[in-house]
Amino acid sequence: MFPVESVFKRNEENLSVKKKIYWLTILLVSLTIIITFIFNIYYTWQKTLDDRYKETTAVANLLDQSLQGSFDDYILDSSISKEEKISQLNTKLQPFVDDIIISFENFGTGYYVKNLQSIVAFGPNFSQDGLIDIKLSSDARIVYETKKPLKFYNYSQTRDGYVVATILPIIRDGEVIGHTWSNVLLDDLFTYFQKDILAMFGILFLMLLIALVGSSMITNQYIKQLKDFRGLLRQSKVSKKSLRKFPQELIEIYTEVTTSREMIMESEKRFRDVVTAFDEFVWETDLDGNYTYLSDRVKSILGYSAKELIGKSTFAHMEAPNNEIIAHYYKEAIEKKITFRNIHFAKKNAMGDIIYLSCNGVPIFNEDNHLIGYRGATRDVSLEKKHEKEIHLLAYYDQITMLPNRTMLMKQIQLLIDKNKPFALLFLDLDQFKSINDSINHTAGDTLLKITASRLKEQLVENDQIFRFGGDEFIITLTNFKTTEELTPRIQSIIDTLGMPVKIKNIHLFNTGSIGISVYPQHGTTAEVLIKNADMAMFKSKANGRNQVTFYSIGFENEITESFALANDLKEALGTNQFVLNYQPQIDLTTGEIIGAEALIRWYHPSKGFISPEKFIRIAEEHGHIIELGNWILNQACADRKKWLNAGLDKFRVAVNISIKQFEQPNFVEQVLAILRQSELSSQYVELEITEGVAMAEPEIVIEKLQQLKDHNLYISIDDFGMGYSSLNYLKRLPIHQLKIDRSFVMDIEQKNDFAIVQSIITMAHSLDLNVVAEGVETEQQATILRSLECGIAQGYHYFKPMPEVDLVEILHQNKVLHVN
Ligand code: C2E
Ligand code: CA
Ligand code: CA
Repeated sequence: MFPVESVFKRNEENLSVKKKIYWLTILLVSLTIIITFIFNIYYTWQKTLDDRYKETTAVANLLDQSLQGSFDDYILDSSISKEEKISQLNTKLQPFVDDIIISFENFGTGYYVKNLQSIVAFGPNFSQDGLIDIKLSSDARIVYETKKPLKFYNYSQTRDGYVVATILPIIRDGEVIGHTWSNVLLDDLFTYFQKDILAMFGILFLMLLIALVGSSMITNQYIKQLKDFRGLLRQSKVSKKSLRKFPQELIEIYTEVTTSREMIMESEKRFRDVVTAFDEFVWETDLDGNYTYLSDRVKSILGYSAKELIGKSTFAHMEAPNNEIIAHYYKEAIEKKITFRNIHFAKKNAMGDIIYLSCNGVPIFNEDNHLIGYRGATRDVSLEKKHEKEIHLLAYYDQITMLPNRTMLMKQIQLLIDKNKPFALLFLDLDQFKSINDSINHTAGDTLLKITASRLKEQLVENDQIFRFGGDEFIITLTNFKTTEELTPRIQSIIDTLGMPVKIKNIHLFNTGSIGISVYPQHGTTAEVLIKNADMAMFKSKANGRNQVTFYSIGFENEITESFALANDLKEALGTNQFVLNYQPQIDLTTGEIIGAEALIRWYHPSKGFISPEKFIRIAEEHGHIIELGNWILNQACADRKKWLNAGLDKFRVAVNISIKQFEQPNFVEQVLAILRQSELSSQYVELEITEGVAMAEPEIVIEKLQQLKDHNLYISIDDFGMGYSSLNYLKRLPIHQLKIDRSFVMDIEQKNDFAIVQSIITMAHSLDLNVVAEGVETEQQATILRSLECGIAQGYHYFKPMPEVDLVEILHQNKVLHVN
C-alpha cells in the first residue's frame, strides 16, 4: 500500500470532526453561558444593590430636604407632647413618603427622629403602630456614631423582612438628629434579578443558535474544501490556478504531499526497476504461506503469472518430500521470526518440469511489531544444480567408460570397510590394451575400454560394483560371500566376458585380462593396502603369462621386489657381456637338412646363474630395456651370421625373435636396416619372428612395416601362431612368408583336437602360399604326423636343442647339406 493512499484514508476519518466541531461549539457556548451566568449573577446583584443604594440615598435626601426649616421646630417645641409631635410630623411627612413609594415601586422609606425616639413616617404598609423606636440592635444606630451614610443588608422592622437598605443621617450643626432610609425587600430584589436573568438566557440561547449555525457553515465550508483538496491530491497534475482558492496551509500540505509522493513514486519505481532487473522473483506471503505479492519475474521462472499465484500457497506444486521440509522450515522460521537464506527446494513449473529454486526471506512486522508474513526473493538454480551434477559426474565418474572413478572407489572401499564384512577387491588389467592403443589409435583403445566396461558391468551381481581405476585397469568390489570359493563362478563369468572378441574397425580383437584379487580383512584393512595387494596379485597374473586370476599371497611382495632387482641387473648385464645367443636349427621335414637356425638369448647372471628368457624378456619389456636388448640380439645374430658366411656356411637364415615393443617402434624398419648395414650382411640371410599379437594391431601400419621389410628381402615369420586366433581374412593381407605353429599344438598333435587345428593351419597356410614351421617337435611320431600333413619345416628337441654358436658351426660344418627355399 502506498503512503499517499493512507493519507487519504486518514483524511476521511478526520472528516467526522464535523461532529466534534458541533460538540465543541456547544461546549464553548455552554461554558460562555455558565461564565456569563456567574458573572451576571454577581453583576446584576451588585447593580441591583447599587441601584437600591442610590435610590434609597436619593429618597433619604429628598426627605431631608423636604424637612428643611420646619423640622427643627417640631422637635424643639416643648409645648407639644411627644406623641403630638410624632403625629404632626407624620401628618406632614407621610404623604411625601407615600408619593415616593408610588413612584419607586417596591421601595420602602421612612424617617426617624432621635429626640422623639421614634419613626415618624414610613411606607409602604404604613400603620400608626409602626411609629415606634427602632430596635437597639438596628444597624441604623451606627450612623449616629459615624455620621456617614450606611449601606446594609439586614432585617427590616418596618417591612418585616430582609432588605437591602441605605441609611442616611440627618445632620444639624454637626449632630445627627435622625435618619431617613430607603430599602428594598430581598424578595423583590430576586424578582428583579429573575427578570434580568431570563432576559439574559434569551440572549444566550440566541447566541448559541447563531454559534451552531455559524460553526456548521464554517465546518461545511471546511469539509468541502478538504474534499476538493482530496480530489486535488488524487490528480497527478494540478494547475497553479486551481490551487489558489485553497488556504495557504493546505497549499503547503499539497506541496509536501506531492513532493513526498514523487519521492515515494521514485523509490517505488526504483524498487520495480531493481525487481525487474533481478534474476530472482520477489514475493510476499502471509503467515499461512499464501502469496500476497509477486513480482512479474515469477512468470519467467515458474511459468505462472503473479495474478495466477496470488492467494495460493507457496508450497503448492512442490515435490514431496520437499514440500514437508519447506513447510516445516517456514513454520519454524515463523515461530522464531527469523531471516532465512539459501533454502533449496524443487518445484514443478507450469510446464510440469521440475526446477530447482533457492530462496531468501525476511519476516514482515506490522506497526505493532507483530509478525504478519514473510517477504523475500527466489532464484532459479536449476542450471547451477545441473552444473553441480556435471561437476559431480566429472569428479566421480570416468568420462570414457562412465564408470565411477578412483575417488568413488576409495569411498566405496571405505564404506565396505566400515561395514566390517568380508569383501574382495578384483584388480583387472587388460592384456592387449597398450598395444591396441599404441598401434591402432586412442579411439580404438577408448572403444575397447567402453565395450569392456559395459560388458563387465552386465556381469555384476547384487552389490558388486565396478570402477575404472586408471588406464586399462578396472577394480571390481565383490561382496556377500563367506568363503572365496563362492566367488569362483562370479570371477569365471568376468573372465568369460573378457574373452569375448571385440570388433573394432572391422578387426576382431582378442581381449584378455590379468586379474589379481585381495580379500578384506585377511589381505589388508585399508583401501590402500587392499588395492596395492590386488595390484600385486594382478602383476603376478601378468608375469605368469597373462589372462589369469591370482589371489594375493604374502610371498608376492618378494617376487615383485625380485623382478625389480632383476630389471636393474638386466640393465647392468647389457654393458657387461652377460648375454649370449644360442641357436636352434630348423630342419626340412622332407630332406632332413638344416635350413635355418633360431637365435635364442641366454643370460648367465653372475650370482643367480642361468635365467630363462621366458622370465627376463618380459621384465625387459616391462622396464623398457627391450629396445636396447633387442638391438643387441639382432646385431649379435647378424654378426654371427656374417662370421658363418665368411666361413663358407651359406644359404640358410638366422631367425631372430622380435619383441612386440620393438616392432611398435615407429623407426623399427630403419633400425633393422641400420643394423644390417652395420654388420655388412645381406638381408636375405635374416628372418624376423614376429608374434601373432603384433600382427593384430593397427593393420595399415603393420602391413606397411612388414611390406617395407619384405621389400628389403627380409624373411618374415609369424611366431607362436594359433594362440591369437587371427582371422584368415586379415592374414591374407599381411606380407609374410611363414607361419610357426605354436609348440602347444605340436605337443598334443596326437590328440584329435590339436591335430585338426594343426591340419587346418597348414591347409590355410598353403592356400595363402605360406611356409609352415612346427615348433617344439620332440618325437618322431610328431614329425611323422607333421610330414603327413605336409608341414615343411620342424624345430625341436627331437632334432636339436638350442646350442652355443660354436656348436652350431660344428654341426653345420658336418651337415653341409644346407638349403634355402
Ligand atoms: P620362442 O620364440 O617360441 O622360442 C622357442 C622356445 O622353445 C625356446 O625357449 C626353445 O628353447 C624352446 N624349444 C624349442 N624346441 C623345444 C622342444 O622340443 N621342447 C620344448 N619344451 N621347448 C622347445 P627359450 O629359448 O627358453 O625361449 C623362450 C622364449 O623366450 C621364446 O619363445 C621367445 O619368445 C623368447 N626369446 C628367447 N630368445 C629371445 C630373443 O632373442 N629375443 C626375443 N625377443 N625373445 C626371445
Ligand atoms: Ca621364436
Ligand atoms: Ca615360438
